[in-house]
Amino acid sequence: MILEITDRQKRTAFYPEGGGQEAEGGFINEFEVTDVIIKDEIIYHKVESDVKPGDTVHCKINFEKRYDHMQQHTGEHILSGVIENKFGYTNVGFHIGSEGMRVDYSGYLTDDELIAMEKEANDVIRKNIEIYQDYPDKNDTRLKDFRFKKELHGDIRIVDIRGVDCCACCGTHMKSTSEVGIIKIVSSSKYKNGIRLNVLCGDRALKYYNYMLHQSDNISQMISTNVLDLESGVRKLIDQKNELEREKKRVMEELIDYKCKELTKTNKRSIVVFENIDSKSLKKMASKLREMSDKDLFIFSETSGRTHYIFSSNTMDMKKMNEDFKEDFDAKGGGNSKSVSGSLRANKEDVIHWINKKLFD
Ligand SMILES: [Zn+2]
Repeated sequence: MILEITDRQKRTAFYPEGGGQEAEGGFINEFEVTDVIIKDEIIYHKVESDVKPGDTVHCKINFEKRYDHMQQHTGEHILSGVIENKFGYTNVGFHIGSEGMRVDYSGYLTDDELIAMEKEANDVIRKNIEIYQDYPDKNDTRLKDFRFKKELHGDIRIVDIRGVDCCACCGTHMKSTSEVGIIKIVSSSKYKNGIRLNVLCGDRALKYYNYMLHQSDNISQMISTNVLDLESGVRKLIDQKNELEREKKRVMEELIDYKCKELTKTNKRSIVVFENIDSKSLKKMASKLREMSDKDLFIFSETSGRTHYIFSSNTMDMKKMNEDFKEDFDAKGGGNSKSVSGSLRANKEDVIHWINKKLFD
C-alpha cells in the first residue's frame, strides 16, 4: 500500500522533485520512500508503510544520490555563472537525469569558447570558494541582481558563490566549490537560439572517464594500436575495408562474367544456386545473361539468412509462376511475364525441388 505522508511545514529531510532536480528518496523506518513531490506548498512522500498520524519515525535519505545531485547542481551554478559573466548568456533550461546533466543557454558558444569556459569553471573549483545558501532580508543587495528564470514572490533562497554566481535556487548544493571535484562538458549541440550542453561533474565525470578508458583499452588491444593512436589506427582499418570492398566488387564482376559464359554453354533451362551473392549482383548477372542468351533461368543466392531469386524465361509465364511460388514459400517479390525477382526464407533444396517439379512434371 502506498501512503501519502504530507508535510505542511516543509521541514522534511527528503528533497522533493523540483528546480530541474529529481527526488532522491530514502527510507521512513524500514519502508522505502519512492517519490517526494511538492504541490500547492505541501510536500507529499510516497512510501509503502503503515505509519499513522502522530507516529515518531526514523528517516534516512539516500545520501549517495543526494551527494551526486549536490555535485551536479553546484557544478551547474559554477558553469552558468562563468558563462553569464563572460558572454551574458543565461541558463534557460536545466535537468539532472540519472546518466547526465543537461543545461541550455540562451546563446551559442564555439568549441574554443566552451573549452575556455570549462577551464574557468574548473579554476573556480580549485579556488575552494565558500557557498552561501540563505534567505536574505528585503534590503540585501543580492536581491537586486540574481540569476533566475521566473518572477519570484515571498522569501527568496539565494545560493551565492561569491564573485562567480548568485542565483535563486531551491536545490541542494555543496558548502564549497572544491567539493564538485571536476566539471566536464561531454557534448554540445545547437538548441533554439542557443546551445545545449551535456555536463558531468565530480564522480560522474570520473565514472565516464573510466568507461571511456575501458573501451579505448579494449579497442587498442583489438586493433594492436597504442591507445593514444586510436584515431589513425581506426582510419587505417577503414581504408583497408574500403579497399577490400573495391576488390570484392572487381572479383564479383569477373565471377559474374565467367558464370554467364559458362551458363550460356549449357542446355536450354538452368537452375543455378550461388552462395553469398547479394541481390544487386544477382540482378546484374540476370540482366547480363538475358543479353547473352534467351534460355530459361532460375537463379538463387543465399545471403544474410535470406534466399534471393530471379526467374527469367521467354517461353513460360513467369508472373503466373511467381504467384504460385510466393504462395507456396511465403516469398516477397514481383516482376512481369518474362522476368521476376524476390526473396524468401526457405530451405534451398525444397525450392529447387519445387522448380524441377514445375519444369519437368
Ligand atoms: Zn541550485
